[in-house]
Amino acid sequence: MNLRPAAEDLLAGLRDFLGPPGWRAPDDAPEVFVDDRDRFTGRGALVARPGTTAEVAEVVRRCVAARYPVVPVSGGTGLVGGHLTMTEPAPVILSLQRMNRIRAVDAADNAMIVEAGAILKDVQDAAEAADRLFPLSLASEGSCRIGGNLSSNAGGVNTLRYGNARDLCLGVEAVLPDGTVFNGLKRLRKDNMGYDLRHLLIGAEGTLGVITAAALKLFARPAESATAWLAVPDPEAAVELLHFLRPRVGDVISAFELIDVVGFGFLEEAGLDRPAPLDPMPKWSVLVECGGRPGVAEALETALGAAFEAGLASDGVIAQSQSHASDFWAIRETIPVANRAVGAVSSHDISVPVARAPEFIERATAALGAFDATLRINCFGHVGDGNLHFNVYRPKGADKAAYAMKSEDVKRIVNDLTHAFEGSVGAEHGVGRAKTVDLVRYGDPGLLAAMRAIKAALDPHGVMNPGAVLAAL
Ligand SMILES: Cc1cc2nc3c(=O)[nH]c(=O)nc-3n(C[C@H](O)[C@H](O)[C@H](O)COP(=O)(O)OP(=O)(O)OC[C@H]3O[C@@H](n4cnc5c(N)ncnc54)[C@H](O)[C@@H]3O)c2cc1C
Repeated sequence: MNLRPAAEDLLAGLRDFLGPPGWRAPDDAPEVFVDDRDRFTGRGALVARPGTTAEVAEVVRRCVAARYPVVPVSGGTGLVGGHLTMTEPAPVILSLQRMNRIRAVDAADNAMIVEAGAILKDVQDAAEAADRLFPLSLASEGSCRIGGNLSSNAGGVNTLRYGNARDLCLGVEAVLPDGTVFNGLKRLRKDNMGYDLRHLLIGAEGTLGVITAAALKLFARPAESATAWLAVPDPEAAVELLHFLRPRVGDVISAFELIDVVGFGFLEEAGLDRPAPLDPMPKWSVLVECGGRPGVAEALETALGAAFEAGLASDGVIAQSQSHASDFWAIRETIPVANRAVGAVSSHDISVPVARAPEFIERATAALGAFDATLRINCFGHVGDGNLHFNVYRPKGADKAAYAMKSEDVKRIVNDLTHAFEGSVGAEHGVGRAKTVDLVRYGDPGLLAAMRAIKAALDPHGVMNPGAVLAAL
């Protein structure tokens, strides 16, 4: 590593200031430098592991004074390379992992205050211990952390009912790029005193500051829940089914996931087999979950009976126990793991208006078929939000390198069509380093200009996560 003397001074000073266990040599923290899918790798000069907000502020102040890059990382489960950079100089990696305390749970106020390094599952459990629900739920919830969830404005399976991470956040505490601490942890439901800095920091992927803690919204826990796996004739019927169920069961549908049998087949291909919920497994399934007052399961069963008569579903099974429901969810949550094992030619986290999702699936499938009829498509995900993981794979056993060459064309076909559908090519995973060019290609000029101006105003020296989100602007 070829650091300027000033950088050596900075790093030595940070090591002294933080002391053990407040820092790690990069070689002692390899997990910070890879992503879950091995698609990106990063490097760093030092992994700073501050234990308090004041320490985070001091690390940022020192890096800014030395004009040295800082890259925040929470759980490292992001899928767009947001915390992974190979650029020179190797940055200070600012890990929030030691700041993992639940500072307060206030059931009466339906709010809790947690530090940025708190693991999402621990936050859910702390809410449950107070007889409340924190509804953010992702397959990575055992590893991702609140700071990363907010910085990427994570979505997940419950967005349909409870919104994205942004909607679940009442306030944040953060260190701004000049080292100032913004104390915005008020737990207010209404506060219109000026610009809302919280909403700038949420979804900024560490380019505008470091979130150190958050005030989160809690909800009543459902007294009863019901989960069903349903065979639907096609994606259009899936979306119609959602509209059919809503007025019949009430506003209690929390998850509505589309599953492609290709993804179910990948479980076997990856050696991760799970028992099939239906026999035979249909081309398209929907996994639906409702939660609410007692009687919700009966309401769902009655509504599904009517849906069968209306031809919106042809087969189905309602989970008979919590463990039965967990079996359904295990299939859904293992599909991304199997996808990774099979290895995508190109994967896409896109969203389109919900009503147009079926037409998008049809047109994107046709366009890819015309490009190369041998490609396999696994389209699954949060269809109730119009958010699809439209992933494209080579045929089983085909040469990986030959198909890797098609990846840019495949991506362009899917992304251009998404744009034509007035959709987003970065629905829930963000921009990171993977989609900086797409942001420019498909972004609104007014938005891009405002983003540049905000970045220049808050981070004039460009030290906060350089290369993420705005690199191509
Ligand atoms: C199996 C699997 C399933 C997934 N499912 C979903 C899903 O359903 N929905 C979804 O939205 N995502 C999903 N993801 C993606 C990922 O888990 C989410 O984006 C998650 O919110 C990232 O949290 P993290 O703590 O791992 O963040 P990290 O990966 O550590 O960081 C993400 C970004 O935020 C920045 N950052 C991290 N911490 C801070 C901080 N404290 N302050 C400022 N910036 C910070 C980083 O620099 C980076 O740019 C999935 C990932 C996997 C591996």
